[in-house]
Amino acid sequence: MTKTALVLGAGGFIGSHLVKRLKLEGFWVRGVDLKYPEFSDSQADEFYIGDLREQSFVRNVIDCDFDEVYQLAADMGGAGYIFTGENDADIMHNSASINLNVLAACQKNNINNVFYSSSACIYPAYNQTDPENPLCAEQSAYPAQPDSEYGWEKLFSERLYLSYNRNYKMKCRIARYHNIYGPEGTWEGGKEKAPAAICRKIAETVDGGEIEMWGDGLQTRSFLYVDECLNGSTLLTRSDKEGPYNIGSEEMVSINQLASIIMNIAGKNISISHIDGPQGVRGRNSDNSLILKELNWSPSKTLIEGLEKTYSWIHSQVHDKEMKKRKKISYN
Ligand code: NAD
Repeated sequence: MTKTALVLGAGGFIGSHLVKRLKLEGFWVRGVDLKYPEFSDSQADEFYIGDLREQSFVRNVIDCDFDEVYQLAADMGGAGYIFTGENDADIMHNSASINLNVLAACQKNNINNVFYSSSACIYPAYNQTDPENPLCAEQSAYPAQPDSEYGWEKLFSERLYLSYNRNYKMKCRIARYHNIYGPEGTWEGGKEKAPAAICRKIAETVDGGEIEMWGDGLQTRSFLYVDECLNGSTLLTRSDKEGPYNIGSEEMVSINQLASIIMNIAGKNISISHIDGPQGVRGRNSDNSLILKELNWSPSKTLIEGLEKTYSWIHSQVHDKEMKKRKKISYN
């Protein structure tokens, strides 16, 4: 019999890639989001547009059992959205409402196979002050002190999913994603994350030019290519484990190094002007020891391989935009 999956957040970056993956695997898929995917048509068999903060809408879209449910919908964005403090109330209210509604509806429909995407942002700020030695092992999450309200909401929701496991015998799985990137992700407009923002700036700048970067660029991160994220997420969902597990890369680089890798890919020599701006914690790296031990998962691609594909896609987006602009000017 054909397996069925529900993807909440199917219009977003990871959700739209996940729908493609599940279709390739032969699933019948229902996608749900406020919007359709921005960069390609959804391959979902059914796509519901609506607001998961509304209980009645959630009851409509979660009205039967599914073999797998992926809850990826959240109010999120890059550092410019999450770390300024200006969007805290919306971030917490919107994402918590979605998770509360989704779990209640899943429980009513006896769905017990729910995947929840938490984040590396739940880890305590006090363990991420040294860019060379950040601590992000799963058990280091408490005493809790995330550096953003986005992280606090994720931590609350992790506990919510685990509570349903304990009290209603559900089998919710939790992954803590670490900076997922790849083609067809937001690359402009303020919600884009570091890899996409730097790819865009480098694609838009001529050889020998200059780009701006928030902070001194010495802060460290690791970045996971979206296909690898899907491998880890589906593996966890189909396992007998609940998590939370880190799903990330252990290939830590500074943001300056990230920029220099992208410059090499682009074949451009560009200088960096460091300016004030939100940066998040000083250092962060995935620690995959637990998921490697318990699920035998670790990423297989290098950062350069993933960035080559991502830069090439963003470069073509920048080029298309430029062509449209020129066409408009010549028509006027
Ligand atoms: P995304 O913003 O591209 O996708 C999230 C989707 O949720 C969007 O399409 C958005 O429209 C939808 N959504 C938001 N509010 C909604 C609502 N009220 N009703 C219906 N849909 C709503 O983000 P993404 O990068 O694809 O991330 C997916 C999940 O993974 C999120 O939960 C995010 O917090 C988590 N995560 C992502 C990363 C990353 O690096 N991308 C890192 C850690 C955690």
